[in-house]
Amino acid sequence: MSFYRPNSKSRRDFLIKLSSGITAFTTFSMVPFNLEAESSIKGRTTSPKKVIIIGAGLSGLAAARELNKAGHDVTVLEARSVSGGRVKTLRQPFADGLNAEAGGYMFSEAYSTANQLISELGLKKEPVQFPVGGTAYYLAGKRMVSSDNLEVLPFDIRPEEAELGAMGLVKKYIIDTLPPDINNPNNWSDPEVIALDKISVEQYLKKQGASKGAIDLLKTTQYYATAPEKTSMLAVAKSDFGLFMQGAPFIINGGNDVLPGKMAADLSGKIHYGVEVKKIAYNNDGVTVEGMRHNNSMSFDGHHVICTLPCPVMQKVNFEPGLSAGKKNAIENYPYLKVTRGYAQVGSAYWKSEGLGSMAYTDKSTFVYTHPTYKSFGANDRCIMEAYMDGDESIKWGKKDKEEIINHTINTLNAVHPGLKNHYEGGAVKDWTYDPYSLGGPSWAGPGDISKYLADLQKPEGRIHFAGEHTTVLRSTMEGALRSGIRAAKAVDKA
Ligand SMILES: Cc1cc2nc3c(=O)[nH]c(=O)nc-3n(C[C@H](O)[C@H](O)[C@H](O)COP(=O)(O)OP(=O)(O)OC[C@H]3O[C@@H](n4cnc5c(N)ncnc54)[C@H](O)[C@@H]3O)c2cc1C
Repeated sequence: MSFYRPNSKSRRDFLIKLSSGITAFTTFSMVPFNLEAESSIKGRTTSPKKVIIIGAGLSGLAAARELNKAGHDVTVLEARSVSGGRVKTLRQPFADGLNAEAGGYMFSEAYSTANQLISELGLKKEPVQFPVGGTAYYLAGKRMVSSDNLEVLPFDIRPEEAELGAMGLVKKYIIDTLPPDINNPNNWSDPEVIALDKISVEQYLKKQGASKGAIDLLKTTQYYATAPEKTSMLAVAKSDFGLFMQGAPFIINGGNDVLPGKMAADLSGKIHYGVEVKKIAYNNDGVTVEGMRHNNSMSFDGHHVICTLPCPVMQKVNFEPGLSAGKKNAIENYPYLKVTRGYAQVGSAYWKSEGLGSMAYTDKSTFVYTHPTYKSFGANDRCIMEAYMDGDESIKWGKKDKEEIINHTINTLNAVHPGLKNHYEGGAVKDWTYDPYSLGGPSWAGPGDISKYLADLQKPEGRIHFAGEHTTVLRSTMEGALRSGIRAAKAVDKA
């Protein structure tokens, strides 16, 4: 994954192409939002504050850890019975110690904050190995198998594009064309980087010369291009290429939720589980947070609040005084990707006999994966396959009964890897779209959304500070969530 190496020629090409269709870069020469601090609070405070943190996902835990270390008095309120939020590892009903990630899936060696934390906590990393082999597709009601030759697929793709394969197209149209400053987070305020927010992934690909067929292929095979017309190129450039691609991917030994679990254990006694926050109020003297636990109302007082709730959930919370018009507008309009994930354990990697590598794609916005806890990729090994449904597929399937979603998962997997039904041993489901404590998967900025909303999403309102992956330019990453928590903790420490 560390193949991203733009050179000066591609930088020149990039500038020429981008400037031909976009208003002047100077429009974006001021960066209105914070690009996230990585460094921790230095030393211990001499004026300890009582801080209430809402949400025990990675951002809330990172904020609580920072403030606790610095000598502040923290209380974390979490609606679920466990920590981790959108980092969740499924262990049931799987056998042989296999598990599947339901939320945050892969870390990157380039996630500097996450890596430092993982090492401080003594956690073990497992490199992700990708199965090699051909790719199966189920498109327009027909199954197809392709190794390198994309011409078998029903995309109107040019012969020279077909020869490149999907990853070759990603390299040609994205990796080799992004501004070199994407490689260096210290230069992310570069106007040519920020200007990427003005265009969608689709517009960007067109500008680089991609045919409609090539764009359709990338839409089908690349998770970040799943809705190319509704996705900001800046978000993709930073989260999916600028940071992620700079290092090898890994998962945490035992499951990614071991990370929030260990962070929460270090805060033992300071996290109140099962408390659904309903109201956040502040005045000149302090803050009061009201919530419900098992039909009992509860109230917590402090000096400051850090709110890490995802935007769709935050809309249901009563703020007093009301939020500023800019914040309200941002919370109401910041887009989220809808995601539902269906899993099937199979007793054997039966697709290997066809020379396939288990990745498979459909035109129904469903990606098929094999989970990385399956390591040997031998022909007769038990493993977990997944149908990852996003967008309209998630909206349609996410609200159905678990059994219906599992059946749909089995049918989808069977369409790309026929024979699944003979190997199926058990299934699981995680829907984020209708989960009341996320109401969506990760935030998913559209073209212009980062410039329009991010500063308002980050901005404190009186004694209330805001963190969470949606408040960072590294949207939809565990690294972004951690950094946002540290940023908010530093602001409260200084307040
Ligand atoms: C399907 C999916 C795949 C992903 N894949 C990757 C990946 O491969 N790599 C990567 O780096 N990142 C990935 N991410 C993103 C990553 O998981 C998130 O960015 C990160 O976990 C978000 O952390 P957070 O603290 O901002 O939010 P959350 O984890 O959502 O934390 C918010 C917390 O608030 C709690 N809460 C909600 N409502 C209330 C309430 N009323 N009162 C009290 N508490 C409440 C929630 O239960 C939750 O614990 C993925 C996310 C999803 C959903």
